[in-house]
Amino acid sequence: MEPAQIEIVGVTKRYPGGTTAVDDVSLKVPAGTYCCLLGPSGCGKSTTLRMVAGHESISEGHIRLGNTVVTDLPPAKRGTAMMFQSYALFPHLDTTDNVAFSLKMKGVDKAVRRAKALDMLKLVQMEHLAERRPAQLSGGQQQRVALARALITDPQALLLDEPLSALDPFLKIKVRQELKKLQSQLGISFIHVTHSQEEAMALADLVVVMNKGRIEQAAEPREVFNRPATAFVARFMGDHNVIAGRVSKITPSGIEFDVPGGATFNAPTESFDVGEPIEIAVRNDRVKFVTPPKKGCGMTGLVQNIEYHGQKVQISLSAPGIDAFDAQIPESEFFAKPLSVGDAVPLTWAPEDVHILKSSPAA
Ligand code: ADP
Repeated sequence: MEPAQIEIVGVTKRYPGGTTAVDDVSLKVPAGTYCCLLGPSGCGKSTTLRMVAGHESISEGHIRLGNTVVTDLPPAKRGTAMMFQSYALFPHLDTTDNVAFSLKMKGVDKAVRRAKALDMLKLVQMEHLAERRPAQLSGGQQQRVALARALITDPQALLLDEPLSALDPFLKIKVRQELKKLQSQLGISFIHVTHSQEEAMALADLVVVMNKGRIEQAAEPREVFNRPATAFVARFMGDHNVIAGRVSKITPSGIEFDVPGGATFNAPTESFDVGEPIEIAVRNDRVKFVTPPKKGCGMTGLVQNIEYHGQKVQISLSAPGIDAFDAQIPESEFFAKPLSVGDAVPLTWAPEDVHILKSSPAA
């Protein structure tokens, strides 16, 4: 089948009992995109995926695949295929028959369906284990069989629910690379649910960050990381400091804002009035130890914790009115002038490293 665009339009899911799992979500996934739905547990990622797959009914809105509205179609009629977190292979069938299962249901002749299953097994480099049963396969191999079984229906889009979560860290990275390669080889869209920002950034063309049933940001990984839309995204992606305060003054280069009980900072923006709340983000690796700290773009912090991360050292600091503040500095820089817990240090960042955050749609 031809790769097709997936369009989710104003979709809401209310479960019986009153949980709104997905709240008026709209999203376009262009044909041939690797899309990751990313967010903490319970934010509505799996529900969104299951509604696209047809395994969950939709309370409001609709979903289109290519030119077809699929909202009320059963899973097998949609042109999507789903790979589940628990691979759900049939224990009594060998690898080939597991992969061929959906063709058997469609009444496809045995020789034809086994030949097609073997093609799919070749695609995931599993043809040498075609006669094994699931219990004789490793986790990574079972995962490949599940992938082949989903792809045999020739879907226009593949839906994957936490496909790497059962794998050990090394295998995770290996299979992740294979997924990406397979997606570009097939040219169809993959929608992949994960709670790992690292996984999403490594794989996705389009990262969709969800929070409380809503989309906080949908963009390329680099955009999401460098220009997080909201404080939630900045915190969830990590490696950012969020500073929240209230605008106290309009200046020629932007605004000044005060942190309750803390310092006054500058931000280059014209879209705020005096008295309004504001949140900014500054990347951890843009924070420098410079004496004295720059007025408006710096402060004095108290070292609370030091973690060695290999290439970088992460220093956690406290400052009045600021929730959490980390600086990451290159290893060599740190050990040239080591710090200790309890040290008061001057922190500074450049005005262009101040990123203004928007308020969260889930707030
Ligand atoms: P995620 O995949 O991001 O972890 P889910 O989509 O599974 O989140 O769940 C979103 C919300 O919907 C959660 O609050 C969850 O408890 C609730 N939920 C999920 N499935 C059901 C269900 N079948 N019945 C009732 N509530 C559900």
